[in-house]
Amino acid sequence: MIEPLFVGLDVGGTTMKAGVVDDSGHSLACVNLPTEAYRGQEIGLERMCESIRQAIAAANLRPDQIAAIGVATPGTMDIPAGVILDPPNLKPWQNVPVRDHVQQVFGLPTAFQNDANAAALGEYWVGAGKDARSMVLFTLGTGVGGAIILGDTIVQGEHSHGAELGHIKIEMSQPRQCGCGRWGCLEAYASATAVVKRALEAMDVPGVRSQLSLCLNKEGGLSARDVFDAAAEDVVAAKLVEDTAYYLAVGAINLMHTIDPDTVVFAGGMVAAGDEFLERIRYHIHRLAFPVPAEKTRVCYAWLGSDAGFIGAAGCGRQLHRQLQSAASDSRR
Ligand SMILES: [Zn+2]
Repeated sequence: MIEPLFVGLDVGGTTMKAGVVDDSGHSLACVNLPTEAYRGQEIGLERMCESIRQAIAAANLRPDQIAAIGVATPGTMDIPAGVILDPPNLKPWQNVPVRDHVQQVFGLPTAFQNDANAAALGEYWVGAGKDARSMVLFTLGTGVGGAIILGDTIVQGEHSHGAELGHIKIEMSQPRQCGCGRWGCLEAYASATAVVKRALEAMDVPGVRSQLSLCLNKEGGLSARDVFDAAAEDVVAAKLVEDTAYYLAVGAINLMHTIDPDTVVFAGGMVAAGDEFLERIRYHIHRLAFPVPAEKTRVCYAWLGSDAGFIGAAGCGRQLHRQLQSAASDSRR
């Protein structure tokens, strides 16, 4: 029997990445195309199909050699309906029937999933969660995304809003406002945007001297990277990094005390902060969690970088392919 092959497509705010992935999760080829959401959703849908075509061609294959496709997009979405509703990162798209469109164009079974969920499935399949049976993933970037996988199943929730881990509450007495408009969310404390905001506030206190003000003066702005880079020599930056590790640990233990996963994975741009930062997250988790999960839960960085999304999207296609196969063999019986 020929090994089935899958295409995964990860649609992001700036680029979309598509790749062909085999049944063991190895990537055979992948391509990047600019998303250019501002050009509208018709062009967006066309470009998604084009990136799938290019990925298949880059692997020297024909579409009829592909068993299934998986497409991952940012939310908000209706996952069972296969529709993106009103995605903040893909403005002005609204109510885009992604799954049915791709399915019609290629005539192949097509799965649809939230991008953080797909990235988590990628890590679970062939990355940091490879040997895990249950996994929680936090993606740290402009915002904070999240995903939960329990025994091969993505916890997407009854209304496609499961595992919105950036918006679990970590502070309610004097809460910061989140990008979502609500208060006290993890994202309002631990995203790259929040790190910068907290840094600007810390520097605004009279009498505070920090080398971060040099970054600010030189470049006219500040990034989370600047804060992490300065932490080794600057007390203000070091405190900001330490607090960030603490906030992430609070988020992680809430999940550990809810589902008790065997692995907690941190992914996204902030992974560049390196092992020392991960050690500080582990330290606070250890301090805050119940002793057994504190001892036994594996806490690590993601492995697959920006490939996790398309590999995981292909993994969603693979799960769909397997469901269809087992349904077909059931009906033959
Ligand atoms: Zn929020």
